[in-house]
Amino acid sequence: MPAQILNGTLVGEALKQDVAARAAKLIAQGLQPGLAVVIVGDNAASKVYVGSKVKACQALGLHSEKHELPASTTTDELLALVQSLNARNEIDGILVQLPLPPQIETRRILEAIDPLKDVDGFHAINVGRLSQGEDALTPCTPTGVIALLDHYQIPIAGQHAVVIGRSDIVGKPQAMLLLHRHATVTICHSRTKDLPAVARTADILVAAIGRTAMVTGDYVKEGAVVIDVGINNLTSPDEARRVFPDAEIPQRLEGIAKRGYTLIGDVEPRSVIEKAGWFTPVPGGVGPLTIAMLMQNTLKAAVMRRGKA
Ligand code: NDP
Repeated sequence: MPAQILNGTLVGEALKQDVAARAAKLIAQGLQPGLAVVIVGDNAASKVYVGSKVKACQALGLHSEKHELPASTTTDELLALVQSLNARNEIDGILVQLPLPPQIETRRILEAIDPLKDVDGFHAINVGRLSQGEDALTPCTPTGVIALLDHYQIPIAGQHAVVIGRSDIVGKPQAMLLLHRHATVTICHSRTKDLPAVARTADILVAAIGRTAMVTGDYVKEGAVVIDVGINNLTSPDEARRVFPDAEIPQRLEGIAKRGYTLIGDVEPRSVIEKAGWFTPVPGGVGPLTIAMLMQNTLKAAVMRRGKA
């Protein structure tokens, strides 16, 4: 039987509705949660992400503002902006869109954000708190993956979770969040020996690699839950015919013809759907959860710092 879909669009909407309802209660008490998003330079993908974050805030009744700085911005100039946002009481969340231009010292910027406003969960204080299992602002994408599993009541405790990828943004915090939910966790990366064999031991397999359709059916145990965090552009029609299930091919080819690419994750849908019990599509899987979690973190930051339950 083909895998069942974990529908991130649907779950993301439900989570956002919940944020909107809770935000409305806070606003009635005179507290409007606010998010400041900072973008440096002209990265096209970053602009799209930032635009959708600001729009999501507006739709849920949160205050949002976008700060756009030129690609030539220095570390000191960006630090000055972060400090001014730290000082403003009505700003609860500060998100500096990554990647930053090469002349900017990214770590210094992330460490300058007030940990209580660190809605991306990248500050060392929040990384440390997550590691200790303390309440913290946790990175949006891996937190969204947990919310998706919970929505579908997929058990985590006692399961073997294999996370492919060890980045600070996805892989490591994902492993930590799964561990705190009592999974037995294996973290894999580019030096892992016989990755397909390790992956096949997973009850829950998370792919956060950044390599188009790398995880094939050969990596997947029969009935496993496969979470595809990857977002890649596929431009080749031949490749699209090879990696997508027959039913999806026409719309994928249309996408390539219109835009020059179609979105694909790190998982090869055609072969994995035949093996997995559950899987996340791309688009419409993990992506929408990331934004929903950012909204949830903004609300949480507002409540934590401005103290209204
Ligand atoms: P990084 O490039 O920071 O990390 C990739 C990880 O994959 C590294 O740990 C790397 O190992 C590992 N890796 C790379 N090649 C292989 C390989 N051949 N075999 C095994 N492991 C490998 O990426 P991110 O974690 O930032 O992002 C991962 C993907 O998730 C990307 O496609 C990104 O676009 C997407 N993403 C999606 C989001 C969403 O909202 N859905 C949000 C954030 C990211 P090593 O450490 O050894 O180099």
